[in-house]
Amino acid sequence: MKTIPNFDRIGEENAFAVLARANALAAQGRDIINLGIGQPDFRTPDHIAEAAIQAIKDGHHGYTAATGIPVLREAVSADLHKRYGVEVSPDSVMIMPGGKPTMFMSILMFGQPGVEIMYPDPGFPIYRSMIEYTGATPVPIPIREENGFAFSAEETLALVNDKTRLIIINSPANPTGGVTPKAEVDKFVAGLEAWPEVAVMSDEIYDQLIYDGEKHVTLLNYPSIRDRLILLNGWSKTYAMTGWRLGYAIWPGKLYDYARKLSVNLHSCVNAPTQYAGLAALTGPQDAVAHMRAEFDKRRKVVVEGLNKLPGVSCIMPKGAFYAFPNVKATGWKAKPLANALLDETGVALIGGPDFGVLGEGYIRVSYANSTENILKALGRMGDFLVSRKAA
Ligand code: PLP
Repeated sequence: MKTIPNFDRIGEENAFAVLARANALAAQGRDIINLGIGQPDFRTPDHIAEAAIQAIKDGHHGYTAATGIPVLREAVSADLHKRYGVEVSPDSVMIMPGGKPTMFMSILMFGQPGVEIMYPDPGFPIYRSMIEYTGATPVPIPIREENGFAFSAEETLALVNDKTRLIIINSPANPTGGVTPKAEVDKFVAGLEAWPEVAVMSDEIYDQLIYDGEKHVTLLNYPSIRDRLILLNGWSKTYAMTGWRLGYAIWPGKLYDYARKLSVNLHSCVNAPTQYAGLAALTGPQDAVAHMRAEFDKRRKVVVEGLNKLPGVSCIMPKGAFYAFPNVKATGWKAKPLANALLDETGVALIGGPDFGVLGEGYIRVSYANSTENILKALGRMGDFLVSRKAA
């Protein structure tokens, strides 16, 4: 069979390959500590799981509207109002099977040969993968350690031109844990006034995982770009629901109907019991969210302190999400061989920075969504390894 060119361009998320390799090693009896995959190690809170079970018992087994059950769309709108004081009509809320489908659809809508789509580098690998799949030109927005891994409005705006159709931004960020300060977002939005044809996709999936008393700045709070803003969010990270596949998008204007049609063509709807679980998550007690955030916060400090004691490693304190992104340049190792050797030789699974973009070289991503005990054990193994092994 002839090759299909678009599929030669589509990429992947190496975190899943590392997870498969870590699981295969564990199945052989190896003691593996997984600091690779980005998902909370907590169980979904009981009242959320119970709501899904009850929904099945109540007969919610059929298709729902492609856009989601109305009561859940209303709950998303109310939740955004409560947390950010922002007005979002339930008619612009679409329930999606996870966070990823929103990036897939929005890049598919704008991407085609001849246009440019901007995305953070280092950043979530699916952005670039999907941009390349559509034939659009990927234009990386540099995310720099010396900037605390926040994006720079000035550097970003300098890259916008007549071909730019979509800018993807992500704060709090994967893989760096960087958080963009309000002043920088203000500058970015003000600069966009000169580019009314450029849409923005703001990936705010980690909005509730932010530390040191900082407040998340949602792009929804900027009226001047609301008619061209796509918001990506969901339940995966906030409520420990990665495997449920539940997210939501806010689509502006006619993009809502395009996304609805794509949903009808693709998945019909999100499974009904999961939508009821999502409703319980938003309308029920939020103490589990506060508890998980407090735990991640403690581990964040443990992991950064431990990483900074390793030879050749330095790590700035991440302000959000559940990732540390230490600089490993002074170890003499390239990041990917280091991540591979750490898994093979010490059983610690992590992700090499280049899996998140060219500017990820010299860094590794350490997910601290694991117990403090495991984090300390992993740091011990990494320390022994770096002392005894020469760079490959
Ligand atoms: N956006 C970012 C920045 C992420 O890190 C992830 C998951 O790792 C997603 C979106 C996807 O979330 P979901 O699992 O809900 O599809």
